[in-house]
This record gives sequence, C-alpha cells and structure tokens, in this order.
Amino acid sequence: MSTTIGFIGLGIMGKPMARNLMKAGYQLVVYNRSPGPMNELTAEGATAASNPREVAEQSNVVITMLPDSPQVQEVMTGENGVLAGAKANALVIDMSTISPVVTQQLARAAQARGVRMLDAPVSGGDVGAQQGTLSIMVGGSTEDFEQAKPLFEVLGKTIVHVGGTGAGQVVKACNQIVVALTIEAVSEALVLGSKAGVDPVVILRVLSGGLAANRVMEVRGPNFLQHNFQPGFKIALHEKDLGIALAAGREYGVPLPVTAIVDQMLQALKLRGKGEQDHSALLTLIEDWAQHRIGESK
Ligand code: NAD
Repeated sequence: MSTTIGFIGLGIMGKPMARNLMKAGYQLVVYNRSPGPMNELTAEGATAASNPREVAEQSNVVITMLPDSPQVQEVMTGENGVLAGAKANALVIDMSTISPVVTQQLARAAQARGVRMLDAPVSGGDVGAQQGTLSIMVGGSTEDFEQAKPLFEVLGKTIVHVGGTGAGQVVKACNQIVVALTIEAVSEALVLGSKAGVDPVVILRVLSGGLAANRVMEVRGPNFLQHNFQPGFKIALHEKDLGIALAAGREYGVPLPVTAIVDQMLQALKLRGKGEQDHSALLTLIEDWAQHRIGESK
C-alpha cells in the first residue's frame, strides 16, 4: 500500500503504535518534541521531520498521539502545524485523549483548509499499544472511518465507529468516568472490609463472583493487594481525563457529582507527589483517611 503516514507524538503509546504501522509495511514520517524516540524509529526505517508542517507535507494521513488538548491544538494549528502543510483532502486522525469540544473546533479548522479529521482515542494501555490490541473509539464521517479502518486494524482489536466528530472523545470520557469511579468504589470496599477484619483477598474473590464483578478488580486486583503502583495508567493522566469529562458535563449541561469528587481525590494524590503512580493508588487516599492499610490486622 502506498499510503505515507505521518505520526506525531512518540511517547508510551505513540512509539509502539508507529512501530506496528511500520511492521505492517507503511512508510512513516515521524515527529516528536524530544528527539530520542524519533532517532529510534528512523534507525528502523522511518523518516524524521523537523516540525508537524513538514510531516503533513509528506503524508496522506497524519496521526497524532499527544498528551492533552493544548498540545494537539499547537500541533494542528500552530505556525508550523499540520494544517499549514497538509495536502488537499488529507486525513488527520487524532488518537490522543482530549476535550470533545476542542476536537470539534479543530475539525472545523481542518475543514476550512480542505482537510478531513477523525477523533480516535484508545483504551488498552501501553501493553495494548505494543501488542496492537487497543480498543479504538472513532468519531467522524463514515467515509473517513472506512478509509482509516485498515490502519486501525493494525493498531487495535476492537474498532468502533461511535458517531460524528467528537463522539470518540465523548465515549472515551465516559470510559474514564467508569474506570475512575470503579477504582474508587473498590478502594472503599477493600478498606472497609479489611479494617472490619476480613482478608482483602477473600473480599475480591467473593465480589468477583456476583453483580459487583468488574475488570478493575480483575486487572488491578494484584496492584491493590500488593500496594504495587507502578503505572499502568498514571494518576496525573486520569485526573486530566476527568477534567475533560467535567468540562464536557458543563458544556452539555450534565451534572457529574461523583466524577467531581473522584477528580478532587486524584488532585489530592497528585499534590502528595503521586501523580506518576498508577491510578489504583487511589486506594492509599482511603487508607490514609481510615488509618488502615489493607491486609494488616489493625
Ligand atoms: P506520553 O507523555 O508518554 O507521550 C506524549 C508524547 O508527545 C511525548 O513523547 C512528548 O515528547 C510528545 N509531545 C508532547 N508535546 C508535543 C508537541 N507539542 N509536539 C510534538 N510532540 C509532543 O503520553 P502517552 O502515555 O503516550 O499518552 C498519549 C495520549 O494517549 C494521552 O492523551 C493519554 O491520555 C492517552 N492514553 C494513554 C494511555 C496509557 O496507558 N499511557 C492509554 C490510553 C490513552
């Protein structure tokens, strides 16, 4: 296939995703703010560009995988941004997790330049990025989705066109609400049960057999039990995502009271220097409040 793909943002997620596209036979033009990961990928056959405009000038499709809305805005609309260099009818796919409102603004700016845009945030973490097993939730037109589908099939396993522009980011915000609130609920349950004298291993086992069963207990259970908070998914990033959800709630007129509380809890953990820990470290806030570490007798 002769599609040249531009890839901007080569971090924990972007670098392995770009690598998978190269392995699938695509030509890649790459750019990242710091040069380290660019050098790694050029050694494997990618072409390096010196800014996002240069990436766009050489590509039919440009993928962005950046931290947050301000970085995507800068990369898209800056002086040396993607839109300054994009070919007519190019397709931009933003796979970062950002505000759906910003996504819609960017899609309009792209359209004014004759450029098409999809929002395609992912879940599945660094392991999903490496193994090409991400879940990808895509917003935008059906035609653009169909064009991008072969690329998504290299990067992920569950690929769903969820609606028009911004819908991918809306679904990702919904996902992040459920994950954060579930971590919080499991943390409260474990601290209560453990301080009342029940083994937390037993609590997780029994809860996993009934209506309370969930993927957070399945995947993060060992993190809670062993107090192992190596990320995974960082508290700072999850706080960013709940900020996106709360802003969307304001924009669309939906109160999100419990999301707001968990957002504040994540902020408190960040202020305690735990922003780089896994989001399952939310447990430690409840433990501090309860003056009880799960698994200890008192
Ligand atoms: P990261 O911080 O590891 O990577 C971001 C990369 O973007 C870095 O390499 C950085 O140098 C680069 N960058 C930042 N600003 C730039 C700019 N202006 N121009 C060019 N490059 C720039 O973050 P990540 O974990 O790869 O996450 C990327 C996105 O994916 C985030 O929106 C995150 O919320 C989302 N996400 C992450 C995970 C995960 O488990 N890590 C899972 C799902 C979704």
